[in-house]
Amino acid sequence: MYDIVIIGAGVVGTAVARELSKYQLRITVLEKNNEIACGATKANSGIVYNGHTARPDKLKGRLTLRGRQMFEALCRELDVAFKPVDMLVVGFDDEDDAAIEELRKRAAANGIAGIRVLSREEALQREPFLNEGVGSALLNPGCGIVDPWELCFALAENAAANGVEFKLNTEVIGLATLEDGIAVETADGTLEAKAVINCAGINTDLINRMAGSESFSILPKRGQYAVLDRSAKFQISHIIAHCKSEKEKSVFLIPTLHSNVMIGPSMEPTDDRTSKKTTAGQMEKLMKSALKISSRIPEHLVIRSFAGLKAKCSAGDFLIQESEEMTGLIHAAGINNPGLTCSPAIAAYIADMIASIYDRMGLALKRNSAFVPNRGGIVSFKSIPNDERNQWIQQHPGYGSIVCRCEQVTEGEIRESINRVPGACSVNGVKLRTRAGMGRCQGGFCGPKVTSLLAKELGRRMEEVLYENNGSELLSDSMP
Ligand SMILES: Cc1cc2nc3c(=O)[nH]c(=O)nc-3n(C[C@H](O)[C@H](O)[C@H](O)COP(=O)(O)OP(=O)(O)OC[C@H]3O[C@@H](n4cnc5c(N)ncnc54)[C@H](O)[C@@H]3O)c2cc1C
Repeated sequence: MYDIVIIGAGVVGTAVARELSKYQLRITVLEKNNEIACGATKANSGIVYNGHTARPDKLKGRLTLRGRQMFEALCRELDVAFKPVDMLVVGFDDEDDAAIEELRKRAAANGIAGIRVLSREEALQREPFLNEGVGSALLNPGCGIVDPWELCFALAENAAANGVEFKLNTEVIGLATLEDGIAVETADGTLEAKAVINCAGINTDLINRMAGSESFSILPKRGQYAVLDRSAKFQISHIIAHCKSEKEKSVFLIPTLHSNVMIGPSMEPTDDRTSKKTTAGQMEKLMKSALKISSRIPEHLVIRSFAGLKAKCSAGDFLIQESEEMTGLIHAAGINNPGLTCSPAIAAYIADMIASIYDRMGLALKRNSAFVPNRGGIVSFKSIPNDERNQWIQQHPGYGSIVCRCEQVTEGEIRESINRVPGACSVNGVKLRTRAGMGRCQGGFCGPKVTSLLAKELGRRMEEVLYENNGSELLSDSMP
């Protein structure tokens, strides 16, 4: 019997796994897909908020403030790139000025240091690309940006190094109460655990139904993004939003870690829990909203669009609690924006709940004295200074061969991404871990080589290599 089964390997499931690996527990994470980090965790704005709009009367508000406090230390421990970036919330008329003042008061009440309203001149000096008609702006220091999937990979690798098992392609299809725990049914068989943590994102309500309850439902919303080529002479140094974002959901302009500017998200309710399609209509809406902030956005330099699904909960707040119908089942449901920011705090909150459950069972949670808090990232060839590259290649010959020319990713990095635990098992898994395929040509050149490296390292035929999830084979050995 496992001590803990975690359902879902997004940033919440992996953060919980890593937090619980600090204790002597037998833990497994079950993920229905072929890769980890393939739900909301891979398709979001990557903003680490400082809680300027957080409502401390809500669990989400409290966890945002706590999560922000914990975030940078966690990134340092796990060698995850975090860049502090201030946010500018801009306004263009009197109504906007009033909204900005309201935002300032809320942020001040939340104890956000350094928050202040900038004049038009100050705003334009900081961001020359802003439209001339800008009236005022709220400067909100203390936010940041990350690659959200990188945090998820790092959490998973560190959890695995500390003994957590990851079972991919393992969808949970049923739950049943046992005398001393819960039976978790998957297509590959049934597992038993003392406690189960439901971190299934958009499917958390489906897991709840498996426990015989309909106490909440998830109301999915799809958010679409456009990414600009980093060669675009449109570089911003703040995360920028129109102050209407609270009411009308303006898009953000986000400077990513890799000098691309990302625009989004547009938001629309959807009944489809699987479709991550982008549409011309939403892209048009998104650009219209962005152009209100800066009319100089080079629309012709969009190299990629993508969409993510938000798991809004009918409860109206994060719902992190033990099921009333199934003892030992903890839900982490409705973890929508800013769930990435909150993830370290959610993990600590759930670890406390597990301690209470263990207490109730008359068991003690014992510290894992062998817990290793650190993990190192894959060394990027691009980050090695020119005069050290030769020496690095002597020691690591795989770094002598560039596979992705746009992002200068080497064979050595790609092989390492596949051989980590849990490692990349698809083209997209390699792309997210190394950036091969993220550049201007979007994998046009390196795609075949990455596919062949995956085939070699995984011991599969090229035709069996997936783009990401099951059914996404790239090649066929039979002619139609
Ligand atoms: C458009 C958008 C923008 C956002 N922007 C930000 C932001 O800037 N900053 C911020 O802090 N937050 C942001 N968020 C929120 C953040 O992305 C999410 O809160 C976070 O990623 C949720 O992580 P998760 O692990 O709960 O869900 P997910 O990442 O969706 O993971 C759930 C996992 O469960 C798996 N699963 C589902 N059903 C089953 C099953 N039956 N069996 C096994 N596995 C299953 C899924 O395959 C998936 O891998 C944004 C979200 C969206 C959608």
